[in-house]
Amino acid sequence: MLLAREPGPAVALNGRGTAFGFVVPFGDGYWRVGGWDRAHGEVPDTAPVGLEELRQITERVFGSDFGMHDARWMSRFHSDERQVPRYRVGRVLLAGDAAHTHSPAGGQGMNTGLQDAANLGWKLASVVNGQAPEDLLDSYHAERHPVGRAVLRSSGALLRLAMAHNPPQRGLRALLTAAVGHVPPVARGAIGRITGIGYAYKAPRGAHPLTGRRVPDVRLEEGRVRGAARGPVRADHPAGHKGGHDERFAVAHWASGRRTALLVRPDGYAAWASETAGAGSAAEAAARIATGGTPAAS
Ligand SMILES: Cc1cc2nc3c(=O)[nH]c(=O)nc-3n(C[C@H](O)[C@H](O)[C@H](O)COP(=O)(O)OP(=O)(O)OC[C@H]3O[C@@H](n4cnc5c(N)ncnc54)[C@H](O)[C@@H]3O)c2cc1C
Repeated sequence: MLLAREPGPAVALNGRGTAFGFVVPFGDGYWRVGGWDRAHGEVPDTAPVGLEELRQITERVFGSDFGMHDARWMSRFHSDERQVPRYRVGRVLLAGDAAHTHSPAGGQGMNTGLQDAANLGWKLASVVNGQAPEDLLDSYHAERHPVGRAVLRSSGALLRLAMAHNPPQRGLRALLTAAVGHVPPVARGAIGRITGIGYAYKAPRGAHPLTGRRVPDVRLEEGRVRGAARGPVRADHPAGHKGGHDERFAVAHWASGRRTALLVRPDGYAAWASETAGAGSAAEAAARIATGGTPAAS
């Protein structure tokens, strides 16, 4: 909705008594305003919602309704907190809110679901096209279930902190908010978690530090990693190979002349990396991935 008076900080959230509210800019002049008051009791999601109710909550929480008007869209929502124990049972694969659901605190639900789909999509395609055995699908649960669990924990913790009433918890909240705003590594960590692209998957012991991490979108001799990664890509130094193509992966070269040999999965994660191994080792690692195995550390 539009606000006649904008709140001081870019993101305002507060809890007072039984009420909680937040005001966040969309970036196009409109604001997302949300809140609840437990004194109003449980209301079904289908009950009509009006501007007056939100105005009262915002007044109570912030001491102002910011002159809100012209809501583009309003709705009620409730949030559960749960996760299925298995993301794959035979031919049934669960992703998104069907697999994990939690409060919107931290804004991670949709992004986590998108990353589930990115992780699962190429594996499903490989199995359906007969390029990989069915076991490859088990790695979907192994990689994504821990991420879902971490998101449940962090969004639960954020919600409790947002609703904190006692001074030490409120102090901690202020400290964390300031750290996210002013300490670049903390801000980067928060962005990685909120967007869902900061999570790493388990790598074999002794693996190259890039293994299991999302590959940064660095420049290649032609284009960038993200544009090239429609299928598996092997990126390395021009001296590392002779031909321009391998049937298991596209071959690309770093624009910077870097020597790291890297095997990038179609979801943009590094499946294998080495500072010393040649093209033969990359091909061997690709073969192991295609048969559902984990490439050995190098
Ligand atoms: C207030 C609020 C704010 C949020 N803010 C953010 C945010 O800032 N960032 C973020 O990342 N996430 C946010 N989320 C979470 C995000 O909205 C959800 O995580 C995301 O929409 C889940 O997508 P999904 O496709 O898994 O499930 P859904 O969006 O629930 O889609 C499932 C679809 O399946 C349909 N369906 C259900 N049963 C059947 C059936 N039997 N047959 C056919 N169709 C069926 C449903 O109608 C629905 O269209 C927020 C959530 C809320 C409530």
